[in-house]
Amino acid sequence: MPEDESHERILAVDIGGTKIAAVVATRDGEILARGYNRTPVQTGPEAITRSILGTIAETMASGRVSPPQLLGMGVAVAGIIDGDEGRVVFTPNLPGWIDVPLKAAIEERFGVPTCMGNDATLAALGEWCFGLNKKVANLIYVTVSTGIGTGIVTDGRLYAGAHGFAGEAGHMTVDEDGPGCNCGSTGCWEALASGTALAREAKKEIGRGADTSMVELVGGDSSRIDASVVFEAAQRGDGLARELISRLAYYFGVGLANLVNIFDPELILVGGGVAKMGDLLLQPARSVVKERAYVTLSHDLEIRPAVLAEDSGLLGAVAFVSECYG
Ligand SMILES: [Zn+2]
Repeated sequence: MPEDESHERILAVDIGGTKIAAVVATRDGEILARGYNRTPVQTGPEAITRSILGTIAETMASGRVSPPQLLGMGVAVAGIIDGDEGRVVFTPNLPGWIDVPLKAAIEERFGVPTCMGNDATLAALGEWCFGLNKKVANLIYVTVSTGIGTGIVTDGRLYAGAHGFAGEAGHMTVDEDGPGCNCGSTGCWEALASGTALAREAKKEIGRGADTSMVELVGGDSSRIDASVVFEAAQRGDGLARELISRLAYYFGVGLANLVNIFDPELILVGGGVAKMGDLLLQPARSVVKERAYVTLSHDLEIRPAVLAEDSGLLGAVAFVSECYG
């Protein structure tokens, strides 16, 4: 029997600091098979590359697809990605990953054309194509978790910038005297409004002797406090947790207002772990945007939770393959 060379399937991989997730999907974004492995963060670039290749092979096996059936592979990675050269220039999640030629490694192993992009940029593409069916022409997608990433669709096109690096809004300065950021600057949006920032502020207040149920929630070990602990305490009525989230929401809104003034979007979708706080985060942020953005820009703007939840990056990589090789 001749081998099936239909090129109708797409394989997508999302490489994060905790897990490597992959799917086999149709061009329409229907997911046919899934695979994942924990990211072996401490074992260095080669072991992580092996794990990525292994996850791809396992996912292809569980979806019963072979390389000739694939239109292409799409890879989403946090950080600075050189899509033209197929290199991970820098990723904050994987220590030691500097200038890694990941595209070449995947193409050499599987013989399938492979395209790569920043995870938040591709997540915006995924939300736009499969969450919104492209019904909106001007969209900003914001993911808030350990950091803040953004992807921008403007005039019905994904905005990439001169080098494909556009959308690093997490590193715009919101308070020049603010706390230090992983990128080396100070007062970046993500240093003030991410889950990491929330946990840092909680620990700081506890270190100053604040009275809060958060310490109890982590069995007395305040080093274990993260954004989800602050959220849980806030839901139970903890005053400090509520105050910290309202400060976070304020700064989140300030950053959104800056983006609104620059891009005039119709819609802002908010995803990522911290977005699970829902209106505790979004309602105050909407008020700040109303106060700070030009009224003409913000009066019919919608700010709401993302549609695809944890699959936005993977489905964005699926859409990207269609765009690159379809
Ligand atoms: Zn920064």
